[in-house]
Amino acid sequence: MFRKFTVLAFLFLAALCLHAQSSLNELMPVRGLSVAAPGPKGVDQFVSFIEEELATRDINVLILRVDYNYQYKTHPELRDSVALSEQDVKKLVSVCSKHGIRIVPQINLLGHQSWAGRTLNLLKEYPEFDETPSVKMPEEYEWPNEDGLYCKSYCPQHPEVHDVVFAMVDELLDVFEATDFHAGLDEVFYIAEEECPRCSGHDPAQLFADEVWRIRNHLAEKDRKLWIWGDRLLDGKITGMGMWEASMNNTHRAIDMIPKDVFICDWHYERPDKSAVYFAMKGLKVATCPWQKPDVARIQVQDMIEFRSGSTPQMKEYFQGIILTSWSSAEGFMRSYYNDSNEGGAKEMLSIFQLEN
Ligand SMILES: [Zn+2]
Repeated sequence: MFRKFTVLAFLFLAALCLHAQSSLNELMPVRGLSVAAPGPKGVDQFVSFIEEELATRDINVLILRVDYNYQYKTHPELRDSVALSEQDVKKLVSVCSKHGIRIVPQINLLGHQSWAGRTLNLLKEYPEFDETPSVKMPEEYEWPNEDGLYCKSYCPQHPEVHDVVFAMVDELLDVFEATDFHAGLDEVFYIAEEECPRCSGHDPAQLFADEVWRIRNHLAEKDRKLWIWGDRLLDGKITGMGMWEASMNNTHRAIDMIPKDVFICDWHYERPDKSAVYFAMKGLKVATCPWQKPDVARIQVQDMIEFRSGSTPQMKEYFQGIILTSWSSAEGFMRSYYNDSNEGGAKEMLSIFQLEN
């Protein structure tokens, strides 16, 4: 009798959990965190962090900025000097799969090929891919500067660039056993540059959209999906959002040229701008991405819930959820979480996922 009761109680609890999970998914399908992948020494701690702090908050998407932090076999010349091994990656894959967390590995394509005064691995090894070879990296980087240098871009029309980057993308997705890939594509300032013999005179929106199509089509060959940041698709002037979280360099018309199955990560950190509606109305799935400001993030969470509940069934599916963004390393994010030192730190930001459903 007692045993029967225990079994029934267990089944009841399991059903309750399943129900809670499905209503949570109904409320907000994507509950994500975007952060840099840990270094090899930080993997074990990050595995515990995923298990103890992310899974317990029902986070189900983890965008990991890997870039060159992997021991690529296809292009060993592009590895960071200290980089994740296959074994390290498998630890992350295993813990995420156990808890139903989808890993979306990221390599910045097109833009973000340098950071401050440092050229990153792709253009260091393949300087011929540089969209602006005449722009030399400064000894002491400061913004603004005469060259308008924020980050370097690769030339999307260079005939050899995709052989190199797609080999890395494929290898990374294979090792992460991933069905989704994040290509970055944010803050691309150098595009259709006059000095580029292939791109000068071209429409920046067309060049941007062409690159999105190329990456998307490559991924589609293995039934994989592309995720990108949304800023280049918003008109910075009309919206007043300016050159960072929107485009002042004529790429925004690409929103009508890119494929509709690209997932948009729409980041707004200072104000809870409601541009998710714009993406959804274009037929693009979108998640709003907050950073560092819990008050803004809470409004963004509430907005997303209301967008879903206030939409037609057709539109509702485009409003996918919230992806908390962190621009520190995984190690830095965990330090902030465990020290709980400052307002807007990791613990407070993660508290936005305490959703009532
Ligand atoms: Zn070019």
